[in-house]
Amino acid sequence: ATADADLTDTIVQPRVVTGRGPATLRAEAVSAWFGDHKVLDRVSLTMPARQVTALIGPSGCGKSTFLRILNRMHELIGSASLAGRVLLDGDDIYDCGRRITHARREIGMVFQKPNPFPAMSIYDNVVAGLKLNAIKAGRDGKDDLVEECLTKAGLWKEVKDRLRQPGGALSGGQQQRLCIARSLAVRPRVLLMDEPCSALDPTSTRRIEETIAELKSEVTIVIVTHNMQQAARVSDTCAFFLASHGTPGVIVEHGDTDAMFNSPQDERTSDYVNGRF
Ligand code: ADP
Ligand code: MG
Repeated sequence: ATADADLTDTIVQPRVVTGRGPATLRAEAVSAWFGDHKVLDRVSLTMPARQVTALIGPSGCGKSTFLRILNRMHELIGSASLAGRVLLDGDDIYDCGRRITHARREIGMVFQKPNPFPAMSIYDNVVAGLKLNAIKAGRDGKDDLVEECLTKAGLWKEVKDRLRQPGGALSGGQQQRLCIARSLAVRPRVLLMDEPCSALDPTSTRRIEETIAELKSEVTIVIVTHNMQQAARVSDTCAFFLASHGTPGVIVEHGDTDAMFNSPQDERTSDYVNGRF
């Protein structure tokens, strides 16, 4: 039903792939609830274009919820509600006139568990990124796009001779890079990554980190990670979320990653980044 709704949406209001480059995403006083359980309390954060922003903090403090709010996935959960605004280069993605598909296309998402379509070919997995958003491309256009996206995801050399093999035949790390390629097919302006390496081995993790470093000139990246070394390695800006004693999640501290790790202002940040809780 969702796919149909998305297609209808796009046909009514066709949009060309713009490729306008990375945008700055800003959350303003975002609060979130599941039923009457409040899980985020007035969270504000700027995630600058051409930077990687890391969201860190203990489990259950609302990082995934915050990420879903950033591309309007939160509202698909029946019991969920929210307050506040999310601005993409100043435009409110929740404006009544704006369609959910618009936000979804501009702001892609990669999840913890790689989720390519396992029976679909590597080639078709990338093209599926377009189909999901009802974007048409000619045959040649598609070949170029598939190569471009797989290259950007750091996977092209490994798969160029077996594009017709099923996505499910790839290793976990390759599947995650395939998912990144699929997200890139619509030329999103922001890419949200929810613990993208948690299910991967150290070598695959390194490859994803290299890909992130290369991608950030083209797409704003927001990454949730439990790995402090990873946050320190890949991010420019960092935000520390905390939900203490059943209170809703808040950002305790945010700013330049080096400063957060080397001279945290809040004792709780210091404890967390140094592995003390
Ligand atoms: P994190 O990603 O930081 O671990 P989450 O955003 O997943 O945190 O969860 C924040 C809070 O919201 C938790 O208390 C969690 O139990 C609750 N929560 C998350 N998803 C749902 C949901 N679909 N329905 C109800 N509660 C949820
Ligand atoms: Mg989470």
